[in-house]
Amino acid sequence: MSGCSATNASKHCYTNGLASLPVARCGVFFNVKELEIKKVVFETAFPPGEIDFSDVGLSQATALEASGSAELLANTLGEIRIRGRLNVRMRADCDRCLEPAEFPVDSDFDLFYRPASQVRGEEEEVEIDAGETEIAFYEGDGIELKDVLREFVVLAMPMQRTCRPDCHGICPVCGQNRNLAQCGCELKPADDRWAALKKLQVKGL
Ligand SMILES: [Zn+2]
Ligand SMILES: [Zn+2]
Repeated sequence: MSGCSATNASKHCYTNGLASLPVARCGVFFNVKELEIKKVVFETAFPPGEIDFSDVGLSQATALEASGSAELLANTLGEIRIRGRLNVRMRADCDRCLEPAEFPVDSDFDLFYRPASQVRGEEEEVEIDAGETEIAFYEGDGIELKDVLREFVVLAMPMQRTCRPDCHGICPVCGQNRNLAQCGCELKPADDRWAALKKLQVKGL
């Protein structure tokens, strides 16, 4: 990658007229100084591998397409609003059977970022009230679009990552993937709560 500094990355990335979607080879960086002059509009796609999801057990199955805008909010001390829409298929191991599974994320986003420097110094007094839980902070000159999208995608993933709602998972006795074959292992009811529930039901009759 040559001569592509973070601050002019956005311009560089828009001028790829050959592809139907411009590919952000060097990322998109929203510089707060640029945003003071004008709102920045983006439409871009990050191929798999461009954004690192490995620490959360995820990878991209498709390019992450994103479009939207970033603007500096008037009458604030540098608060940036980034909104738009993103579309990607993420890949993760199924929680139950451990086979690779895909999870589409196709969603609007509307996020607010405040400069971290603004809170430093008065840190002791800052209390986050219930209405402000959506607000995040940025360090330095601005925000990397990659970081914004990464965080949003991770949060948008379902709590239960299963390959399908009725995944039978792995047999705890022999390790067989029970979606593929029945192993016939005898499963003892290990959980005492079920036993207690059964007693209750007997009493009820
Ligand atoms: Zn599964
Ligand atoms: Zn088994």
